[in-house]
Amino acid sequence: MGSLDDRAVFETCESAIRSYCRNFPAVFVTASGATLTDASGRRYLDFLSGAGTLNYGHNNPAIKQRVIDYLAADGIVHSLDLHTSAKQRFIEEMVGTILRPRGLDYRIAFPGPTGANAVELALKFARRSTGRHNVVAFTNAYHGMSQGALAVSGTRSKRAGAGMPLSGVTRLPYDGYLGDLDSAALLEKMLEDPGSGVDPPAAVILETIQGEGGLNVAGAHWLRKIRQVTARHGVVLIVDDIQAGCGRTGSFFSFEPMGFAPDVVCLSKALGGMGMPLSVVLVRPDLDVLAPGQHNGTFRGNNLAFVAGTAALEMWRKPAFEAGIRDRAVRVADALAELVVRYPEHGAHVRGRGLMCGIGWSSAAVAGKVSKEAFARGLVIETSGAEGQVLKLMPPLTIDERELDAGLAIIEQSIAAVVGAAPRPGPVISERIAENAAM
Ligand SMILES: *Cc1c(COP(=O)(O)O)cnc(C)c1O
Repeated sequence: MGSLDDRAVFETCESAIRSYCRNFPAVFVTASGATLTDASGRRYLDFLSGAGTLNYGHNNPAIKQRVIDYLAADGIVHSLDLHTSAKQRFIEEMVGTILRPRGLDYRIAFPGPTGANAVELALKFARRSTGRHNVVAFTNAYHGMSQGALAVSGTRSKRAGAGMPLSGVTRLPYDGYLGDLDSAALLEKMLEDPGSGVDPPAAVILETIQGEGGLNVAGAHWLRKIRQVTARHGVVLIVDDIQAGCGRTGSFFSFEPMGFAPDVVCLSKALGGMGMPLSVVLVRPDLDVLAPGQHNGTFRGNNLAFVAGTAALEMWRKPAFEAGIRDRAVRVADALAELVVRYPEHGAHVRGRGLMCGIGWSSAAVAGKVSKEAFARGLVIETSGAEGQVLKLMPPLTIDERELDAGLAIIEQSIAAVVGAAPRPGPVISERIAENAAM
């Protein structure tokens, strides 16, 4: 046995597919809120948050206690998809706190616990309800790693992992992919024109903000137009809200501010409250056409995740919770805006929406080096985009201001260390922290 911080066992015994751990090579032992602690006792701020899974922070006390109490009372942990009181409470909370107040009418389907499995089920609903096979997906999309989910995803290297043709998909440019080209109008034309060569699709699947794809934000006009066109042509609109949902952009669903409702919504990542694996597919009742057992699975519904997820959804009963996310998002947006103007020669610009935001760079090398430099300074922060050209901030939605500012200051210092201190307009973020400390 090696010592706890000896990483040799991972390098010699774990598969080469390991990925995040290569960039953040510590052995983590405990975590609380926005803080991770490694085997040597070193603390790190977590701006990765399980790629948007830990929206309520690590081991959020209000969530964790409910899980402890449930286990202590011999609450049932595994039940296939048998009725349990934990599932009952989760469904009631989902309907009462999230769906009904937003005027949304969906059936709730439980696939296996991963996001990819939710995407697979969403595609089945679309294909079986329309009797069509083709699906329209967008450039730089990320929908997961199983075969169907990979087929609708964009990244070439990830697609190559399948080792076989990934078919049944028509690829269109995401909003903004080609400058002013309006790809919603292109979709409309292709569906209307019998000569377009595009088979009438079962579904259009999209993320309102592409997280893995580089924090690309779809405009409200584009999204509404896609909604209109799909509705007119009997095409199922699937919004993959696995990363952007559960409050990441400021509202529970990322599409709420745009004032439209998709036909099918995939949720996962933060849905399980404290990192418990849980996914749902929300489906318009008339599209709920699969036969009993046609998307079966052993872990379809995980009672500990139901308990944790219910506790998390309860936080949404108070409007103050959403307001708190927006306040933090403004704080981050202001800081990023101050930062990017210092580095025009590196193409620095702000990307994303809400607490799903970051800095794009003209060179992927800069983003990667900043992430590395930040880790050395005690901040876990990843890059995204097909080439890793975007520094991506995903702090917990519940992070306090001091920690938020401390993370932003590390980002500021890391950028300065990588591309050189900027001549203007000075270390604003660090100054604000000094002011806060003096208050
Ligand atoms: C993470 C993610 C998935 C895949 O979820 P897994 O649990 O990793 O299978 C799908 N879509 C989006 C938008 C994601 O961010």
